[in-house]
Amino acid sequence: MERKRITVAMPVFNEEEVLPELIRRLKAVAESSSRYEFHFLFVDDGSRDRSFEILSELAAADPSVTVIRFSRNFGHQAALEAGLDHARGDAVVLMDADLQDPPEVIPEFLRHFEEGNDVVYAIRVKRKEGLALRIAYALYYRVFARLSSLDVPLDAGDFSLLSARVARTISSLPEQHRYLRGLRSWAGFRQKGIPIERSARYAGERKYTYAKLLALAADGLFSFSVIPLRAAALLGFLAILAASAYGLYAIGFRLLTSTVPVGFSGLLVTMVFLSGVQLFFFGVVGEYIGRIYEQGKGRPPYVIDRIIKND
Ligand code: UDP
Ligand code: MG
Repeated sequence: MERKRITVAMPVFNEEEVLPELIRRLKAVAESSSRYEFHFLFVDDGSRDRSFEILSELAAADPSVTVIRFSRNFGHQAALEAGLDHARGDAVVLMDADLQDPPEVIPEFLRHFEEGNDVVYAIRVKRKEGLALRIAYALYYRVFARLSSLDVPLDAGDFSLLSARVARTISSLPEQHRYLRGLRSWAGFRQKGIPIERSARYAGERKYTYAKLLALAADGLFSFSVIPLRAAALLGFLAILAASAYGLYAIGFRLLTSTVPVGFSGLLVTMVFLSGVQLFFFGVVGEYIGRIYEQGKGRPPYVIDRIIKND
């Protein structure tokens, strides 16, 4: 019988300390699930350390390894996308390279895949990050679930297995700012989440800066919800109501009494407050317009320097 072919795609950015251990554990998993033909696809997102040398040596010797090198750092999501675009076979596993996503879970993913699930994703039950970041994550996923019309699972990251048809569906989307976990839910089919304890990073520093994390959060929100736009309309409506009520009151006051209403500070606070609200929503509208602008330019999400494989 033909063995099913599984591609494990991993974004790599300056992970030289992690790679030997990662490769060792991936090989062990491949040996323990010999029913499948594993293929390892490393996407080097413009590393400046020895990651690319390590990976290309490996790829030159091992036909089950492919390395794609970007021309510069394009970011984690772009690297995952390249993984989806270049994966071949019956399913693709998307996984971080820093061993926070344990490769030993892949056989479990495969079991659920064989049971007819097109998407199997990890739900993070325990995070190893600091308290502030954990609260921020928890809050974000819950706000996202409220605002998007999608039924997105809470606390599910990118670590997942996608069937070939789901991978194809997502990789053929023309969307520029991709928020993979959102698109994965959007794709539909039978999906299953399994709880996984997320380990600490095996070695090295975290490569995601807070700015990148924030950009990812914004991509998620603005690509999957128009509620922030509606909020402007709602607030504007409330402000009109409040202003009209006060207007009526002021006219009544003037007609019934001979005194003129005073209130310079009230006026100032209201004006500054409302200008603030306006500027804020100007920014929100700007987020959407910026995304239309980026989409209009239609630049590819990544540029490939070279691909190393030997089969
Ligand atoms: N990564 C990447 N490009 C980047 C930042 C990160 O390819 O610009 C990779 C990184 O090598 C790792 C994965 O994306 O395999 C997740 O990054 P990291 O562990 O720094 O993020 P965290 O897990 O802390 O959210
Ligand atoms: Mg990590």
